[in-house]
Parts: sequence; structure tokens; C-alpha cells
Amino acid sequence: MSATRTLWFVLGDQLDPHFTVLRRHFDKARDVVLMAEVSDESRHVPSHKQRTILFLAAMRHYAERLRSKGVTVRYTRLDDVGNASTLAGELRRALDTLQPQSLAIVRPGEWRVLRMIERVAAQRKLPLRVHEDPHFLVTPQAFSAWANGRTELVMERFYRAVRKRFRILVTDDGRPEGGAWTLRAESRPRFAGNRPPLPKRVVHTPDATTRAVIASVERSLGDLPGTAAEFNWPVTREQALAELHDFVRHRLAHFGDDVADMATGAPWMHHSLLAAPLNLKLLDPREVVQLAVDAHRRGEAPLPAVEAFVRQVIGRREFIRGVYWHEGQDYASRNALGHRRALPTLYWSGETEMRCLREGVGGVLQHGFAHHAQRLLVTGNFALLAGVDPKEVSDWHLGMFVDGVDWATLPNALGSSQHADGGTVGTRAPVAGGRTIEKHSDYCDGCRFEPGMRTGDDACPMTTFYWDFLIRHQATLAANRRLASALAQVASMSDEVKREVTAWAAVMRKRLGVVER
Ligand code: SF4
Repeated sequence: MSATRTLWFVLGDQLDPHFTVLRRHFDKARDVVLMAEVSDESRHVPSHKQRTILFLAAMRHYAERLRSKGVTVRYTRLDDVGNASTLAGELRRALDTLQPQSLAIVRPGEWRVLRMIERVAAQRKLPLRVHEDPHFLVTPQAFSAWANGRTELVMERFYRAVRKRFRILVTDDGRPEGGAWTLRAESRPRFAGNRPPLPKRVVHTPDATTRAVIASVERSLGDLPGTAAEFNWPVTREQALAELHDFVRHRLAHFGDDVADMATGAPWMHHSLLAAPLNLKLLDPREVVQLAVDAHRRGEAPLPAVEAFVRQVIGRREFIRGVYWHEGQDYASRNALGHRRALPTLYWSGETEMRCLREGVGGVLQHGFAHHAQRLLVTGNFALLAGVDPKEVSDWHLGMFVDGVDWATLPNALGSSQHADGGTVGTRAPVAGGRTIEKHSDYCDGCRFEPGMRTGDDACPMTTFYWDFLIRHQATLAANRRLASALAQVASMSDEVKREVTAWAAVMRKRLGVVER
């Protein structure tokens, strides 16, 4: 009989500081935790250096915490001799050495990883126990129970149901505090510069463990995209809490005020920057929401700002995860608009004359981050308008953002941003031309292109591609009410104008390196 009862495979985004599942089921005398740093997780889609460092540094700190609690941890470092380079390989090596009687995991954040572990367990004829992830408020089963039978999955309805069920900002008689479920107007005012003054970011000085990870990544994975130079993401529970408290103190009160705005040299605006520590599970959504609500009760943040934040954490985030598991593994191959072009190289270099893309992609390369408006209106919008393969866009988001995890990225990037699911997540194809970017940013000031022009050397490529997109997809999107007025303009264009736009779009695709495959 093997000495190890159960091998617990803990993944890099399962760093629950409260050890909720382990506390209930782990036997310190007979069980072992397996954690593995493997290069394949940074290469199967190219992962930004800072994203890789974030995961590995957080894992090393977490393993130290587990050991300090008396847990036996089998930990493989990136540079260790014999590292199998893949999660499957490291799992097999651990099974060979420890010969456990069973295998246990918390549900991973990715179909690929779940299926891989199931395969290995089946090959070894090992019982596998998959525990639900207690981090989330809504289990995949509960989401499917809500979704089944509905003709469309509307985030707003889900959000209201979750708020009512968990009694968050809800009165005793079940009504929303403030009198409405949504307290912000959907249409956003024109960009008005950086007012109020933008708060500085909290500094997370890398300790010896994090510095060792940075050195290891530079040594073994130095060819990964992005730079590690300004790494400043929370990798421990303490740092994650510092980030959370900093947000509540300095940015929550204005959360949502500038959600559609983009300002040159301002990568953070009033965004929370909590997606990365939440997605690694260093923070719990319940505590995050509670702190925000408490700040409102103390009069430190207005209700509309707090409601907008709560909506993201327990509405949008839980909804996106629910969709990921509910829609199944083939969701990743959806391509409702039939887009097949390759992602242009400027997404890896940031080199382009388009100021908006230079800012957006440049920020990603520098920080592993772009905020909501940049993802929606710039990097995602351009790829959608240019007809880039949605899976390539989704993979770029997965690897290049510190908060990139499959369950979040796929519905957000492939579904919502690229409209590849035909409207499962978000019914509107989120397209915008140069005028919209001009309205919400200072990017067009000083750009060599003219946002209002759609053809000719000075024409804004966003504007050219916007009209080209609408001309190409006029029939497919005809029933899309939210694009009705734009499509009506296309319908009123003469054939000659349409031909002109289509031809100029082809010229610009060539100039910008958007190629057919
Ligand atoms: Fe971007 Fe067009 Fe504005 Fe230039 S003019 S920043 S390309 S939207």
C-alpha cells in the first residue's frame, strides 16, 4: 500500500489563502500537494513576462505558506533538472514517485487542463475527485440551472438574481438600494482630460522570492513577449490586500466615472486592478465587495460607483465564468463572423502610426495590462474590424494580460469583444470608428490620421475598417437592433462609395500587416 493517500494538484491560479478545500479534505499525515512551474504554460500561447512572473512568484509564496502550515508540498521549479516542461509531464512524474491511491483537484480554470488531468487519471486508473471552486459565488451547475431554458443569456438578469440571492445592496423587501439596479447612465460623456487627478499606484517591492523568479524567467524564458522591468503586481496575500485597500481608499469613489476614457500616459485611470489577484484567488470576491459596500456605508464612496464595482465583481465576472462552463469546450472554436485573418505583428511590437494602438499595445507590452476602454475600443475593436481570427485575438488576450485566465478571457475576448459567439455574451458587435475613439480619448490629438476621414492617405484606419466591416457584414448583422442606425447609413451609401471604402480597406490592411492566411 502506498504511503501517499491523495495527491492534490494545486494549479497556479488556485492560491486560496484560506485553504478552504484543503482544510476540509486534506490529511497532513497522508496527503501531498503537487505544484509545478512548467514552461509549456508560458508557451502554448505566448505569455507576457510579467504574467509568467506573477503566476510563478505567487505559486512560490503560496507553497511557502502551505509548508508553514505543515503541508507536504512537492514543488518543481522552472529551472529544476528533470522538469518535464508540461503539467501532464509533471503530474506523471509525481505519480511515478509517490504512487498515490487517488488524485484530487479543485476545478481548474480551463477545459484543457481539466481534460488533461482526467486523461492522466484514467490512464493510471486512479480515482479522481474534482472539488468545486469555493472562490466563486455561483457554481457551474447553478449557472446552468439558471441558463437552461432561456432563449438568451442576459447578464443584467443574472446580476440581479445574484444580488438578491446574496443580499448585496438590496433592501429588506428585496429592492435595489438607490431605487434602481443600474445607477449609471449607459451613454458616456465626452472625454474631459484627467480630472480628478489620477491616484498613484501602490508599490509592491519584489522580495527575494520574487526577484529569484524574475531572474529565472529572464534566464529560461527570456524570449517571451513584454518586459519584466516594471513588474509591480501583487504576488502574496498581503500584497493583494494592500492593492485592495489602496483601491477602496483612492479609486473606488470615482470607479466608473472614466470607464470609457483613455488618456495618453495614464494606464490605470480609476480601474480597480484587482482582476489579477482575484483570478489567482489571492482575494475573495465576497471580501472585495464587502469592503466596497462598507466604504459606501461610511460615506467614503457614492452608491453609483460602488454599484458599478459590485456589478463587475459579482455580476459580470460570475456571469462570464458561468458562460465558459455552460457553453462547453467547443465555445473556443466559434467564429460567427467567419474571420480568418492573422493577428498583425504590431500586436507584439506596438510599432504603428496609429496612436491609439501604439498606446494600447505599448501599455500591454510595458505592464501586461490595458484597461477596459483600451481593450474594448482599441485592441479588441481594431482586430474585430480588421477581420482577425477571434481565437488568435483571444489567445493574445490570454497570454498578454496579467489577469489572463481561460475562463475569463474566452467569453470576454472571443465572445464579447470579437462577437464570435454570435451574441451569447453581449448582443451588440462592439464596433466603433475613429470618431468614437476621438470622443473618449486624447489619442487622436497629434495622430497622423484624421478620425473623421474614411478613405485616402490621411483617413483613420479605425474609420475605414469600421465602414468596411459594416459593408461586409450588412446582411449578417441586419437583425442587430443596436447597430440599426449605422447599418441604415450603409444602406444609404451608393455602390461607388462602398467600393471605394472596400478598396481602401484592402490597401490599409496591407500597410498595417493584416494578412490573409
Ligand atoms: Fe486611432 Fe484613428 Fe484616432 Fe489615430 S485618428 S488615434 S488611428 S482613432
